[in-house]
Amino acid sequence: MTAILVEIESGRYDVVVGPIEASLDMVQDLSRGTTPILVTEPRVFGLHGQVIAERLGADPIIIPEGETAKDWEVLHHLLADLAERQVTRSTPIIALGGGSVGDVTGLAASLFKRGCPVIHVPTTLLAQADSAIGGKTAVDGFGEKNLIGTFHQPALVAVDPAFLDTLDLRQLRSGYAEVVKYGLIDDPALFAWCEANGSGVLAGHRDLRQQAIVSAIAAKARLVAGDVEDRSGQRALLNLGHSFAHALEAEAGLGTLLHGEAVGLGICLAFRLSAELNLCPAADTERVVAHFAASGLPTRLADVGLTKHGPRLTGWMSRDKKNRHGQVALILARGIGRTFVDRTVDTLRLTAFLDSAA
Ligand code: NAD
Repeated sequence: MTAILVEIESGRYDVVVGPIEASLDMVQDLSRGTTPILVTEPRVFGLHGQVIAERLGADPIIIPEGETAKDWEVLHHLLADLAERQVTRSTPIIALGGGSVGDVTGLAASLFKRGCPVIHVPTTLLAQADSAIGGKTAVDGFGEKNLIGTFHQPALVAVDPAFLDTLDLRQLRSGYAEVVKYGLIDDPALFAWCEANGSGVLAGHRDLRQQAIVSAIAAKARLVAGDVEDRSGQRALLNLGHSFAHALEAEAGLGTLLHGEAVGLGICLAFRLSAELNLCPAADTERVVAHFAASGLPTRLADVGLTKHGPRLTGWMSRDKKNRHGQVALILARGIGRTFVDRTVDTLRLTAFLDSAA
């Protein structure tokens, strides 16, 4: 079992990586005599949830799977269920599933009785390597990604890479894009490790999977500490590719493109724009695009049917909550592992770039 400590101003929590059996003892310790609430979705419940529910004596709440879970109505029903079960403020609420279950359950936990403890048990690569850590919660609203949300740090994150054995390749690739992101942000050695070992991670090599997950969690813990609420700019680097990605997801129709697919393509766009602006060596951009392509991820707007959508994509990007004074916030790169926050690219330039990108 590997434990990574996430230290933030308001407290600290462990992310434990290893067999779920061992972590469930920790969940029971945190429950202090109460029966935890297990929130999950049908597929994950069928594959992995039943055993966990039985072991914890929990009667699960089942919500829809995938992006459709990140919805106001689902949140409403979830809160109603918590009220009906007379959940107390000290009862841990366990989110068992991918990032979608984690995001809506985290939001419900943060709202119910002004905050109940949430424990994340992520079951996708994306959630294990990224979304379960850091405390961001959200549902989508009015066609926009993550419009309604809070910050609510978990009490514990229990990661078991064995859950990934049942995940399909498209979902694995999507999650892998977030792992690669950590190398590109500020860790060129991690990116080189991905180039050498990414195919093994996707093929299901257990040690490589564990290494990839632990590296990503450690990087996220480091970047989140000191900028928990995404205000100083340090945490903003985690949004590499995301300003583009959220626009791509909205433009394609939420739930059409997988989040990690949009992030991988968004990162390729960020590196291409950086090269066009003479900020980043073209060779670095080519290396980045080549690795995402080799991993089976979309790297061009044509791959997702969104060429010539420049004005509409920029329209979505202009609504991003990270923007300030009308300036779109982008994470650009001076090279692999050398990213920074930029607010100088105007929307006309951005539209022209997106309209001409293949
Ligand atoms: P997901 O939660 O939408 O799940 C994708 C699919 O995988 C579902 O069909 C689900 O049933 C299935 N699944 C889950 N675990 C499985 C398993 N072990 N075996 C077989 N099938 C399994 O996908 P995701 O990629 O984990 O999450 C995407 C969401 O995460 C997006 O909404 C994104 O915005 C959000 N996100 C949040 C943060 C954050 O910091 N809070 C960060 C990144 C992404």
